[in-house]
Amino acid sequence: MERAKNYLDGMWSVGTGQPGICINPANGEHAAQYSEASLDDALTAIGAARQAFDHGAWSRSPRLREAVLLEFAANLQARAPEIERWLVTLNGKLTREARGEIATAVSELRFYAGLARNLWGRVAEIDNGCYSQLSREPAGVAGIIVPWNAPVILLIRSLAPALAAGCTVVIKAAHQTALVNQLTLECLTSIAGLPSGVVCSFTESGADIGRAISQSPHIDVISFTGSSATGKKIAADASGTLKRLSLELGGKAPAIVLPDAPLVSTLTGLVAGALPMAGQQCTAIARVLVHESRFDETAAALAERLNSLVIGPGHEPNSQLGPLIDHANRDRLARLAAEASQHGKVWLQGGVPTGPLSQGAFVSPTLVEVSDLSSKYIQEELFGPVLVIERYRDQADAIARANATRYGLAASVWTSDRAAGQAMARELKSGTVWMNTHNKLFPEAETGGFRESGYGRLHGVEGLNDFLSTKHVYWESQPIGVVR
Ligand code: NAD
Repeated sequence: MERAKNYLDGMWSVGTGQPGICINPANGEHAAQYSEASLDDALTAIGAARQAFDHGAWSRSPRLREAVLLEFAANLQARAPEIERWLVTLNGKLTREARGEIATAVSELRFYAGLARNLWGRVAEIDNGCYSQLSREPAGVAGIIVPWNAPVILLIRSLAPALAAGCTVVIKAAHQTALVNQLTLECLTSIAGLPSGVVCSFTESGADIGRAISQSPHIDVISFTGSSATGKKIAADASGTLKRLSLELGGKAPAIVLPDAPLVSTLTGLVAGALPMAGQQCTAIARVLVHESRFDETAAALAERLNSLVIGPGHEPNSQLGPLIDHANRDRLARLAAEASQHGKVWLQGGVPTGPLSQGAFVSPTLVEVSDLSSKYIQEELFGPVLVIERYRDQADAIARANATRYGLAASVWTSDRAAGQAMARELKSGTVWMNTHNKLFPEAETGGFRESGYGRLHGVEGLNDFLSTKHVYWESQPIGVVR
């Protein structure tokens, strides 16, 4: 059985830790192993990353960084079919989702390769003979902690700007998808020009290494993607060293359907927006808000669409809804589905399918109408195929409902009226608002949260900000005489 390794001291090794099991969530079978890293190994490697940053050439070599990122992109593209198969096997997502994830990661690497050579500062003449130079320096050693739900792109969207900026990097990967992490990173670690100590990577099932990264005085910035609960723990752990944090956290995305939205295309968009990776995406539509004049027809049609989805393993070409990450999450979502009727009218009752699919972590979709804003179905991130539908009276009511959670990651507005949609986007407390679509993320466009969905931005030019510090260097020379 394949066993994922950790990368330290410039080589991949199983180390001294115990092997852990990675399952295939489509059938519950053991699919691979990972190597539980030891805290000592992690601390040694953090020291090596510090050394490489403080004394190596990496932080001062933008052209080398560009070349490494371009080669990384080419290697990832070349190994995409192999990584795609493991992504489907270990994560459960559909093949087309895995393919899209890797292609986006390749594009992201190329985008930041270009930016590595565009780290411009500025110089201002403050007064006669007085100059302020503002330079953009790499922030230092970056800790990157990522979850399992999109282990390729979520790693790359932090790693690419960190490397482009000139940081060295310590990675903590999710154990469920450790082998995908290794295969992705091999595309970097195999590059001959990569200086030693620039990158290291660990897997653990617990949180000891994650906490060590948050608390280490040798790490300057953390780029974390994961739940809001863990983000708060990291912020607390990092407070002792006051390190900089970029937190990409949970979401509870509302989709507001205005009365003029065309029903058929809107339903297609809502289903696609709600159930990428079986609903295990931070930005996925979790709440559908529909005007009362069109509520019943929309709810019935949406339930019908959700009910018609083909459930099956990610590698099957016909599958439209794959499994959840594991059986514990299947059982959690099945309980939420079973309890839904206590919270409102159930338009579609989901649960664990019977037959061969019952071996896997599959849950069929549920659609429940909820009006009580304090309900956990509205307030909590459920992270699976339990979708909430809500009625609103007018646009003010829709905005108030949409903004009534502590999350603020993503939202969408569905309307034929561009101006009305734009006006609503302005009112939504959300890092991203899509019009008549959902989940469109690009290397060029910044993404991130408001409120408890986090802070900092990834993707885009601003994605570099977390990994750069601005330094002011001031000098004076003889004032120059006034020319008359
Ligand atoms: P999680 O917070 O449980 O774990 C994420 C990572 O943090 C894992 O690698 C885990 O091992 C590590 N970790 C756990 N406890 C830690 C600690 N105390 N200190 C340091 N590291 C620790 O999240 P999850 O369940 O694996 O992932 C799903 C969550 O991620 C959802 O809430 C989802 O919305 C969120 N997410 C957010 C984005 C975004 O861009 N905002 C993207 C993807 C996923």
